[in-house]
Amino acid sequence: MSGLTLTVDAAAWRDHLHAVADATPGLVPVAKGNGYGFGLARLAEEAELLGADTIAVGVPSEVDAVRERFSGDIVVLNPWRSGDPGAAEAAADPRVITTVSRADDVAALAAERTGTAPTRILLEVRTSMRRHGIPADQLRVAADLPDGLEFCGWVIHLPHAEDGRAREAETLATACHAARPGPIWFSHLDPDDARRITDHLDVPVRMRVGTQLWLGSPRTRRATATVLDVHEVARGDRIGYWQRRVPSAGWVVIVAGGTANGIAMEAPTSARSARSRMISVVTGSLEAVGRALSPYTIDGRKRWFAEPPHMQSSMVLLPAGSTPPAIGDAVEVELRLTTALVDRVDLT
Ligand SMILES: *Cc1c(COP(=O)(O)O)cnc(C)c1O
Repeated sequence: MSGLTLTVDAAAWRDHLHAVADATPGLVPVAKGNGYGFGLARLAEEAELLGADTIAVGVPSEVDAVRERFSGDIVVLNPWRSGDPGAAEAAADPRVITTVSRADDVAALAAERTGTAPTRILLEVRTSMRRHGIPADQLRVAADLPDGLEFCGWVIHLPHAEDGRAREAETLATACHAARPGPIWFSHLDPDDARRITDHLDVPVRMRVGTQLWLGSPRTRRATATVLDVHEVARGDRIGYWQRRVPSAGWVVIVAGGTANGIAMEAPTSARSARSRMISVVTGSLEAVGRALSPYTIDGRKRWFAEPPHMQSSMVLLPAGSTPPAIGDAVEVELRLTTALVDRVDLT
């Protein structure tokens, strides 16, 4: 089968997953979006193997992708908003924990909820992220929750920037605790800081981790693309949608993977200005910027795109003097796994 393949050394990857779990108190693996390149189903199975008691998804519509493959609780990270796809079903599901990020949504969720089991909720406090969260002066909403809502703790979602982060976490955790003691669910905090803060307050700690868990061991995986076609070209030959002239003799290599797989022109070279780079991104043309380096390694080095990637394949130039690959060969491709969609994940 041709396409983009992510090949994972399963034993080495799982060693890494266990090492992160051992170093992270109350680990909650995060499985959302494109599943960090592995897919949500695979991550749910790995979280189960890892022995996690709780997994996190991004949005309510992702609950179904993990529900049958993971036996524990499922936290929805994005805050509850009335009418979101799957939000009502998730709030009625005794295995799901819903995040509430606005004081008014406490009453709204209580009024809209259905089902016999209470809706389990986390209350998110606003941090310096200024993304979501209840402002610190409204935390008293936690003290007296309406019937039908079960308090499962506080959410503190911090920025990646470390400057002042531990102190902010401590200040907010203390304020939350004063409003209502309960477990504290952190995102993006050093495990030692998290442990110190929650030990001091004598409450359970939970840490939601995605990237560092699933993608923190790059040497345990490799991504490859199938060579679909190879054509010899002379200097000046016109090729591709844009009928650009080939700058030197060699080959044009057609490889699997295109915009639908998250293959992008990430490294335009001779862009003269931010404006010309912007034009090239918007129009998809290379004319404004010259050539762009592709993520494909062929015959030992990254090669230039002949033109912007197509939907499911890309045209790459290989200069004379190189050794062209054969049709059906697999060539190395560098993927950003938070945006990639591969055709196959092979655990070996
Ligand atoms: C995505 C997300 C995480 C996990 O982020 P990573 O940087 O991938 O570890 C944690 N918390 C929240 C609220 C998120 O949305």
